[in-house]
Amino acid sequence: MRVVVPREAAPGEGRVALVPDSVGRLAPVGFEIVVERGAGAAAGFPDEDYANAGAMLSERSALLEGAEAIVRVARPSADEVAAIAPGTVLIGFLAPLTEAEGIERLRRQGVVAFAMESVPRITRAQSMDALSSQATVSGYKAVLIAADRVQKMFPLLMTAAGTIAPAKVLVIGAGVAGLQAIATARRLGAVVSAFDVRPAVKEQVESLGARFVELGVHGEEGEGGYAKELTPEQHAAQQAALEERVPDFDIVITTALVPGRPAPRLIPASAVGQMRPGSCIVDLAAEAGGNCELTNPGQEIVRDGVTIVGFTNIPSLMAADASRLYARNVSALLQHLAPGGELALDFDDDITGGACVARPTEEVAA
Ligand code: NAD
Repeated sequence: MRVVVPREAAPGEGRVALVPDSVGRLAPVGFEIVVERGAGAAAGFPDEDYANAGAMLSERSALLEGAEAIVRVARPSADEVAAIAPGTVLIGFLAPLTEAEGIERLRRQGVVAFAMESVPRITRAQSMDALSSQATVSGYKAVLIAADRVQKMFPLLMTAAGTIAPAKVLVIGAGVAGLQAIATARRLGAVVSAFDVRPAVKEQVESLGARFVELGVHGEEGEGGYAKELTPEQHAAQQAALEERVPDFDIVITTALVPGRPAPRLIPASAVGQMRPGSCIVDLAAEAGGNCELTNPGQEIVRDGVTIVGFTNIPSLMAADASRLYARNVSALLQHLAPGGELALDFDDDITGGACVARPTEEVAA
């Protein structure tokens, strides 16, 4: 199977869908990999490493010739979709819950599209779980971003010049990113508290050495372990409780998301106004609108001395390791769809059927 890896064109996207190591693993098992020149450059993977691993390098103009599958990170633009031949397999973050128009475009083009977001979170598909792999990177990096912004050290320091109290960190939302943020902040020596609407995570939070904050708000866990949206009353109670607690913290990392919905607004502007100058909020929900009322998606702002970071593609800031993990996810899905390099799509299979977000209608296929 000929698999093509384009250079990502979306602004700020430094990741690449396959790294040289994954090319080296796929090439001997039935995959012919074609990489656009410069595709890995922003993540630190030079063309020659791809060539040494067994990939062919191509200019963009000839890239899609004979392509049976295209693997990428961000969803393709309208022009990129128009260049894809009907029947080609496409794998990437295609935002099926929020970009219906893009999915419809792929369907009309006759593309067989698999969204990494739609891979079911079942044990058999763990190696393909790109939401988790990228959330791990985000949670880790969010703490480093915050540590870099605050005027405070993380650990308790007792020195001849006096004692420095440890930084106090609050993590809101203890899913994959939140748990990684807790672990990272603890390793740096902070005192960490965390909250999630799913009561089931209390034990996981405590096992990482953080305190679970009781806000008296308990949401429900829906399919796949995701949180359900709170009722307006629960939401108001949570905002009020957080408004009281947030000013105690030097750093707040927010990760609260409900799939396919705008991010819950948890930190009102009034709560930011009461935080100590020099403190920092990193809002990992920025792409879905943000958990903090003042978050400006894609930007870093300072309001009343508080830094609010709303970067929308944090994994791209650690593009090398984010790409390494993503490439393993993509390789696992490719091998599931095309064992031994032979495409064998069984849409009754949970993974294949679950991840497929567009495929040719009969008229297009005919
Ligand atoms: P997510 O990114 O959708 O949400 C992040 C967190 O925000 C979740 O923990 C959610 O409960 C929380 N949240 C939502 N609304 C909130 C609110 N109002 N206040 C506070 N917190 C709020 O979730 P995720 O990180 O992708 O993971 C969700 C779950 O899926 C976790 O339980 C995780 O363990 C599970 N999971 C299972 C598998 C698997 O079985 N293979 C793989 C990955 C994740």
